[in-house]
Amino acid sequence: MTASDAQPHGFSTRAIHAGQDPDPRTGAVAPAIYATSTYKQDGIGGFREGYEYSRSANPTRTALEECFAALEGGSRAFAFASGLAGQDCVIRSLLRPGDHVVVPSDAYGGTYRYISKVAAPWGLEHDIAAVADVDAVRQAIRPGATKLVWLETPTNPLLGIADIAAIAEVTHAAGALLVVDNTFASAYLQQPLALGADIVTHSTTKYSGGHSDVVGGIVVVKDGTTTAYAEDAAERIGFHQNAIGGVAGPFDAWLVLRGLKTLAVRMERHCDNAEEVVEHLLRHPAVSQVLYPGLPNHPNHVVAARQMRRFGGMVSFRLHAGEAAAVAACGATRLWTLGESLGGVESLIEHPARMTHSSVRGTALEVPADLVRLSVGIEDVADLIADLDQALDQAHDQASASAHARP
Ligand SMILES: *Cc1c(COP(=O)(O)O)cnc(C)c1O
Repeated sequence: MTASDAQPHGFSTRAIHAGQDPDPRTGAVAPAIYATSTYKQDGIGGFREGYEYSRSANPTRTALEECFAALEGGSRAFAFASGLAGQDCVIRSLLRPGDHVVVPSDAYGGTYRYISKVAAPWGLEHDIAAVADVDAVRQAIRPGATKLVWLETPTNPLLGIADIAAIAEVTHAAGALLVVDNTFASAYLQQPLALGADIVTHSTTKYSGGHSDVVGGIVVVKDGTTTAYAEDAAERIGFHQNAIGGVAGPFDAWLVLRGLKTLAVRMERHCDNAEEVVEHLLRHPAVSQVLYPGLPNHPNHVVAARQMRRFGGMVSFRLHAGEAAAVAACGATRLWTLGESLGGVESLIEHPARMTHSSVRGTALEVPADLVRLSVGIEDVADLIADLDQALDQAHDQASASAHARP
């Protein structure tokens, strides 16, 4: 089965089969890890199926790229050594110095660092917009200069929601391309290309790989996408992937491919568990606010319900007792692991202001200090809730002890 004839199949069928025929020689069902840098040529230039050198193409990477293109409904996909390597390739393939990009106000910290510290000195201009508000995006677009609108939805760590279809319209009206970083939702919960986006990126380190054992990135391009300079976008990105060289190695590509096979069942369980954790936190006296797109009082709940299958495994909450309590809670869990990253089978807890988002402190992207972010894993949810409770109790005791200790 090839990626193209897999297209009419359901999501999980594509995840398990697209790009991954059993090996014609041995019948091996699992794709092989082609740990090779080069390929024997049948006479000079006689490449077998186009394979020449593994920066340019490797069969394990090809399998992942075909599978991802089928999952996101794109024509081509390109696999990278990290999510940021993929984003860098998108920016440098599609834009030129002097071009302008609109960036979300709560973009992934590494994305903002890349735009402001790497792309800006190279000559890229940018403005920040609160992408939950379509008008804010419209106002940030500089007609003629804006070539790209970068979107993340849900956002990290505030779980804001941007209306992909509405922003695609505004973006295209200005002659720009819409890129959606779909890492938080995963390809299973949200399909940006079908909603009007031109390009989708993922950090496959997160839900796609799903087991916290690999760092990787993917870029998927919609069929027929042309750059602002009227070049074929997939061709440009493919050229730059090879010319810059930040490709996924065969073992990393294989791990992501293996993760994708269970993406749908994992996401369903992540969502089940997240919903129960949210319900519990809403009733907890120490919690002042729960941020989750599935809550009817989330400002863009209606948009989330329209464009997402379910609302995902990421939950953030704020504590009445402030920063000290948030820090204490993060340090007091036993089952939830204190750590950065997200999207693995194991539950993680972190303090964005001091960890994932410390690099945006003092900027427009700064996040509240009393905020705790959860990546809800697929363990038994009763165990997760019991551990959160004991951590919040400890945090409460510590916060009141230090309050009483004040002179
Ligand atoms: C992790 C992450 C990235 C960066 O990906 P790496 O694989 O760490 O390079 C980009 N966007 C989002 C939303 C992420 O969570």
